[in-house]
Amino acid sequence: MACQSLYLHIPFCVQKCPYCDFYSLPAQEDLMDRYVEKLLAALERLPFPMEPLETIYFGGGTPSALGAKRLNRILEAIHRHISWKPQAEITVECNPVLAMEEELRQLREGGANRISMGMQSVSDQQLRVLGRRHTARMTEEGVEAAQRAGFQRISLDLMLATPGQTLEDIHRAVDTCARLGVGHVSAYLLKIEPGTPFAQNHMETQCPDEDGQADFYLEAVEALAAAGFQQYEISNFQRWGQIAQHNWRYWDCQEYLGLGPAAHSFIQGQRRFFPRDLEGFLKASNPWNLLREDGLGGSLEEYVMLRLRLSEGVRWDQLAQRYPQYDPTPLRRRAGELPSQLIVADQQGIRLTTQGFLVSNTVIGTLLEAF
Ligand code: SF4
Repeated sequence: MACQSLYLHIPFCVQKCPYCDFYSLPAQEDLMDRYVEKLLAALERLPFPMEPLETIYFGGGTPSALGAKRLNRILEAIHRHISWKPQAEITVECNPVLAMEEELRQLREGGANRISMGMQSVSDQQLRVLGRRHTARMTEEGVEAAQRAGFQRISLDLMLATPGQTLEDIHRAVDTCARLGVGHVSAYLLKIEPGTPFAQNHMETQCPDEDGQADFYLEAVEALAAAGFQQYEISNFQRWGQIAQHNWRYWDCQEYLGLGPAAHSFIQGQRRFFPRDLEGFLKASNPWNLLREDGLGGSLEEYVMLRLRLSEGVRWDQLAQRYPQYDPTPLRRRAGELPSQLIVADQQGIRLTTQGFLVSNTVIGTLLEAF
């Protein structure tokens, strides 16, 4: 089946956060105009067959830095050259600083129907430590503006185990998510990435150690469950059936096309990526020529690895459908040998427990020895 998911990387941010290693540059008007023109030209000459889309995701960077007019031009081009299904999920990542009601209303009219907002914390002091420009109040106003603009599907990001954070902060953040009426939360442990200002300043010394991180994670899982948010992936929680469909496809090892510097794709059985180079992308006569191959995708090992990020894990019936030649007996046996507080193996399949999620790399590594 041809690809039904599109990711667009918007490599601009109003200001760089000191912990972030995503590819993004300062949001300058002329650069953003040139970038949009390049994306429109690329959408006109897609090198892969696409089906009407089920999911579209504007990630970054800060897609909302482009503004609704530019984003809607991109959406128009997507509609013209690929089109999307009536029930398609169209997500735009949005910084609370840029969540203006009129902008959001225009975006909604352009077809976007899901907002993912970087709340990160509800403590202004914490937000300052994280180098964020927004306040807790701004997140609340942004969510309310999105709701008034007609967005019924809103996700909030929450960072865990940040410098100086307390367990009480987690509870306040979860209470805020519940009170604001959002249907999705992504709760991530802060990872200090090499080369970032946080790494240079040894901020890890101010963060909880491994045991402390586990406490923050487990506290968040528990608080979110108590507030009605069901965990469906290591870091993702939903209520009212608001699973992130686009990301679900990544974890289900389905194909998607990514466009823009630093964007990754899995298409026609190949993993591919664009280099992290905006200037090169803008200068290219045909940016698709920049796509680099990154190995074959969709192997059995990769499928198992990705699916185990999901709470529902690997299901035997789906595994048999996708890899009919594979005899799952060794995998089932290996899973049965691991501690039951980390992994469940039953008639339905295998799946990690919350404790298992905390050590997922080790557990998955051990399981993969079965292949
Ligand atoms: S706004 Fe998001 S993408 Fe941009 S620098 Fe901050 S964390 Fe990174």
